Amino acid sequence: MRFFASSFAQAEDIFCHAAACAGVDTCFFPHQHVRGRGGRSIGIRTARLGGPDARKCVVTLSATHGPEGYAGSAVQAACLAAGMALPDDTALVFVHGVNAFGFEYDSATNEDNVDLNRNFVSHREHRLLTPADEDVQALLTPVEMSEDFLNSLQSRLTGLSEKYGYTAVANAVTGGQYQRADGIGFGGTTQAWSNLVLRQLMSESLQRAEEVIFIDFHVGLGDYGEPFIMSFDAPDSAAHARALEVWGSAVACGGEGFSAADRRPDYSGLLVNGLAEELPQSAEVMRIVAEFGTFDNFSMLGALVIDRWLRYEAPTPLSAGAGILKRKMINCYHPDDDSWRQGVLKDGVDIVQKAALL
Ligand SMILES: [Zn+2]
Repeated sequence: MRFFASSFAQAEDIFCHAAACAGVDTCFFPHQHVRGRGGRSIGIRTARLGGPDARKCVVTLSATHGPEGYAGSAVQAACLAAGMALPDDTALVFVHGVNAFGFEYDSATNEDNVDLNRNFVSHREHRLLTPADEDVQALLTPVEMSEDFLNSLQSRLTGLSEKYGYTAVANAVTGGQYQRADGIGFGGTTQAWSNLVLRQLMSESLQRAEEVIFIDFHVGLGDYGEPFIMSFDAPDSAAHARALEVWGSAVACGGEGFSAADRRPDYSGLLVNGLAEELPQSAEVMRIVAEFGTFDNFSMLGALVIDRWLRYEAPTPLSAGAGILKRKMINCYHPDDDSWRQGVLKDGVDIVQKAALL
């Protein structure tokens, strides 16, 4: 079976077919506010392997960042098709197409330019932008786009780091912000549609679980073709210790595995943290973000900048140059490279299998 799709619609077909092969139904939660290409209905799909009363559930999620879903969706379909042997008390819950709009239209953010992985905050506080945030947003939201500009990002950010310090700039670039709706890393001002649907899904389907492992699949961090697993449990927690035990050196937390100043940015509003809030108090939880590396950090930042530029500044219809930039951006999330894809499938299925057997 082929697992990598070339559109969200095709990814949904592959996912549904793999579920049918595994003998399970899928559920569809149509988006209430947006339609797909040609007016088609788009939304989140789920499938479940294993009984409704399973003591332990491994929840995998794909497409939190739109086109990163090509990889996550392929891994989910491959897991369904693999005929994976599960312990009696264990279920796999597959959540496909978290950011349905972004997967459909090739954008890491949702219909409101919200980064869903920064949206799981209370939204009651109004965090103001710091001077470093203001300067970073000004840099990353250009009206004109060019290769020269993209190539200058590293040196310009280095300049800002000299002014504000590395940590302030790293947080301004990737930590999340809640003020500038047309900016980079916008976490929204309210719970996004996907957030509400996911919370409801988790509270309904995991109420009887005593142990839950969340694995949110992403693309972009880490070495090319290699898995990069981030544990979002406290470094001194049992869950983090178990993640290290199972996935070993691929696991990063806090100071490990990050380049430059070797510190993970202070991400706010992470999806895996938000979903954990929906579990029964007594449930043990493990929070994993599983990345597959593609290109270097500045290329990936360039992809975000292009993505935002295409939404707000690019000519419509797209000029030839803008079309080239769009393909370059998509290739960062969905490399046109069979060996990369084969590696993702092998490692991705292995990550889920190990979580199920843990
Ligand atoms: Zn991502």
